[in-house]
Amino acid sequence: MTEAVYHRLVSSDVSGEHIDRHTLACVIAVVRGDPAQTPAVPMTHALGLAPDALASLFASYFPDALDMLPWMAEDEGEGEMALEEDDLRRLLLAHRAGQRPEEEAWLANIVARRSIVGPNHLWQDLGLRDRADLSALMGRYFPGLVALNSDDMKWKKFFYRTLCQQEGVVICKSPNCTVCDDYAHCFSEEAGTSILFSQPADSVAPPPARR
Ligand code: SF4
Repeated sequence: MTEAVYHRLVSSDVSGEHIDRHTLACVIAVVRGDPAQTPAVPMTHALGLAPDALASLFASYFPDALDMLPWMAEDEGEGEMALEEDDLRRLLLAHRAGQRPEEEAWLANIVARRSIVGPNHLWQDLGLRDRADLSALMGRYFPGLVALNSDDMKWKKFFYRTLCQQEGVVICKSPNCTVCDDYAHCFSEEAGTSILFSQPADSVAPPPARR
């Protein structure tokens, strides 16, 4: 059912680039869940977006799906923020591309919130197809962090190590990753099944042409 939400969102009749619509539709669909049921967590809280920011996102990208929004009217703000969430959001924004201010601001909130509350690989908790989808997201919106993470560490691990380094806290067991006992925790493949998509990435139908 959540994949049906994605397809409904991504087929919204708006201009703009498909990759932006795809990225935002993935994460909205995965946090919305089954449309026949009330979400366990309000969308604003799951995304770390205030109601006005989420309404603005829908108006820009999903104007055909505004009926998904009424149940967020009872929300207050973007939900409780974890201690490190603001630091992570600032880290993301400090390394944004600077090409799409609104999308980068929304996604800094979303990536920070999903990193902190999500129990799975980050790409899964963002509703993406696979880890390559997350690499594309980071490269498009936060390329400065891709440059810093040149060894392709797992993104959650990279975020926390970077924030700890900024605070002068050493979390590494070794000065050298190649001889570290935690190497697999930091660099393993992050394989898994997409929470949203039932088919592998190359089986997903290409998006319809946009006007
Ligand atoms: S592999 Fe070890 S040294 Fe490298 S980032 Fe992870 S914990 Fe730190």
